Amino acid sequence: MNKENVLYLVIPCYNEEEMLDITTKELTKKMNDLIASKKISSNSKVMYVDDGSKDATWSLISSAHEANPLFTGIKLSRNRGHQNALLAGLMTAKKYADITISMDADLQDDINVIDKMLDEYSNGSEIVYGVRSSRKKDSFFKRFTAQSFYKLMHLMGVEIVFNHADCRLMSRKALEGLEEFDEVNLFLRGIVPQIGYKTSIAYYERNKRVAGKSKYPLKKMLKFAIDGITSFSVKPLRLITSLGFLMSIFSFIILVYSVVVKLCGNTVEGWTFIVCSIWLVAGIQLLSLGVIGEYVGKIYMEVKHRPKYIIEKELD
Ligand code: UDP
Ligand code: MG
Repeated sequence: MNKENVLYLVIPCYNEEEMLDITTKELTKKMNDLIASKKISSNSKVMYVDDGSKDATWSLISSAHEANPLFTGIKLSRNRGHQNALLAGLMTAKKYADITISMDADLQDDINVIDKMLDEYSNGSEIVYGVRSSRKKDSFFKRFTAQSFYKLMHLMGVEIVFNHADCRLMSRKALEGLEEFDEVNLFLRGIVPQIGYKTSIAYYERNKRVAGKSKYPLKKMLKFAIDGITSFSVKPLRLITSLGFLMSIFSFIILVYSVVVKLCGNTVEGWTFIVCSIWLVAGIQLLSLGVIGEYVGKIYMEVKHRPKYIIEKELD
């Protein structure tokens, strides 16, 4: 007889008290259906990861666990951000699960994508990327910033799946691969494609958040984008080199120009030009230093090799 696989749904939660009861209800239904239709083993679970929430999130997770053994949870010692929380969940789930699927607590990603992902897994994929079929329901601002983000990443040479956020299926084998990546600047969307194996894509519709607020304000999104680029690509460094090269050619032209002007005897003219040049060059130098600093900072953090998360409690 074919033994069914143990599935762990890994859900990072940060201040999700408004959302959790709805999520728990929806997922109970979904998981029970999947277990009844023998698509997954009855030992499958939903694992909530409390990312150091300041509200009632952890007590809601504990009571979900008490009411139904389908739910389990881990609590991080403090807020470490979505990516670290997700990794903590995946690495904990790896101990018990054959397959993991990661999703956001707000269920913006249509949960019916789970079925499609499991089908792809049966067809031999070790990683299945959930990809949004459209962004019609996102606000204009979110759609614009998110899509610019993917384009920028692509331009900067980061291998990334377009319109794929962190909703994905990973087999235990893929998770073992992920564990080998030892970096502290965690950008899972960039790391996972590096693992390899057979992968595929499952499309789903992205919905609006039903309760609570987005935990990704512009500031966090920008930090995420900068982290993503500088953790995976040295293109910005090369851009500086090209920029420096262009500037050198340009200054040579200026040199010839100023000699010609001097020979013509009009040296007082051109004050504006000099002032502008000074500012421009200073600006470019500062910008370049900033980019270099970004990389130096990364090296600094990697060298320190701090733990990415600390698990305070695990239910069961
Ligand atoms: N999240 C987290 N830690 C954080 C911020 C967010 O675990 O520091 C979780 C959050 O609870 C949610 C997921 O990451 O499950 C995605 O966040 P959100 O829905 O707010 O982002 P958006 O969908 O607006 O991009
Ligand atoms: Mg969301």
